[in-house]
Amino acid sequence: MQTTLAEAFRNTAEGDTAERILRNCVHCGFCLATCPTYQILGNELDSPRGRIYLMKQVLEGATPTARTQQHLDRCLTCRNCETTCPSGVEYGRLLDIGRHIVEEKVGRSPREAATRAVIKTGLLSPLLFNTVLKLGQSVRGLMPGFLQARIPAAEESGTRPAPHHARQMLVLEGCVQPGLKPNINAATARVLDRIGISLITAAEAGCCGAVAHHLNDHDDSLAAMRRNIDAWIPHLDAGVEAIVMTASGCGVMVKDYGWLLRDDPAYADKAARVSAATKDISEILVAEADALKQLGTRAEPKRIAYHPPCTLQHGQKLSGGVEALLTRAGFELTAVAEKHLCCGSAGTYSILQPEIAGELKTRKLNHLQAGQPEVIVTANIGCLTHLQSGSSIPVRHWVELLDSALATS
Ligand code: SF4
Ligand code: SF4
Repeated sequence: MQTTLAEAFRNTAEGDTAERILRNCVHCGFCLATCPTYQILGNELDSPRGRIYLMKQVLEGATPTARTQQHLDRCLTCRNCETTCPSGVEYGRLLDIGRHIVEEKVGRSPREAATRAVIKTGLLSPLLFNTVLKLGQSVRGLMPGFLQARIPAAEESGTRPAPHHARQMLVLEGCVQPGLKPNINAATARVLDRIGISLITAAEAGCCGAVAHHLNDHDDSLAAMRRNIDAWIPHLDAGVEAIVMTASGCGVMVKDYGWLLRDDPAYADKAARVSAATKDISEILVAEADALKQLGTRAEPKRIAYHPPCTLQHGQKLSGGVEALLTRAGFELTAVAEKHLCCGSAGTYSILQPEIAGELKTRKLNHLQAGQPEVIVTANIGCLTHLQSGSSIPVRHWVELLDSALATS
């Protein structure tokens, strides 16, 4: 797509990147067919091609309006359009740039700004988040059904083996996952321990930066990245083999540190090193399949439906690994239609765009439940809690099922 950047964006890092990406878009519209918001809203401006056109206009000097911002806000950043696009358009990177520019020019109403500040404070303070969560869980039984659905029941984590193997990997604990579903990282540690790998934590590491990034707060997001890099590099120097992600939403973010910090002379190399060492837990276990095979499994429950998060299949381009591991462990995966479509969770999206998120959740659950599974599994804490809030079927992380299958073998 021919683009003539406005003076303000010429010879800038954002302008150059945006122009390179825009050039690749040939306006074919193939991406419309797999865009969840276009499927629901039916408006070209809520499709990838429409949003690309809006961003192009802004980069060429048009003044963005609140309406422009709304169309960009409605994007789930699921990146399904990237998987579909035959021209390799890096839509996600362009959207980051477009949202940043539009945010600076349009701003936020006091109400929107307050909502975003509350989300950021609530999700990024483990003490505050866990206190509120525990309070909610303690009175959960007295709440009406719709509120109960929003607060997951308290859960035990099971034992977590102390590090004792020579082979070690780091885990990013995550900001909300340890409070909501403490068993996910514990189950990961147990599975890895059985194949001779100890999972350790860098105490100074915290949120991956995705929450602030989703809210367009680039400074806070970059600060979180630098803090994690400082926490992890000494462990990589000491021989830790990988940084394991048990939430695909965090994984896609940490794998992007190298790109996001490429212009920071103090962090560019370290960020690239951290990104290269970062692996989703499915990548680790696929690579260790021979060791897993020695263990034997007894899969219980049998019938499960798998929802691959967008951050795994479109963001990290990882498909098939989870399915292969679960099938090999003896689980029966039910057929699920529209596997490529987002469930509506999408980071902070389900809070900021509840109507679209709710519609996508219902659509996704209809497909997941069609095969009458005993359990639904996924690979990201956001998808897990979002889907669980609309289903009476238990929704779990797939590694928990693999752990229980190994435990009973
Ligand atoms: S499929 Fe790719 S090239 Fe075609 S309109 Fe969408 S982004 Fe542009
Ligand atoms: S990222 Fe997802 S919601 Fe956004 S334009 Fe692409 S397909 Fe549509």
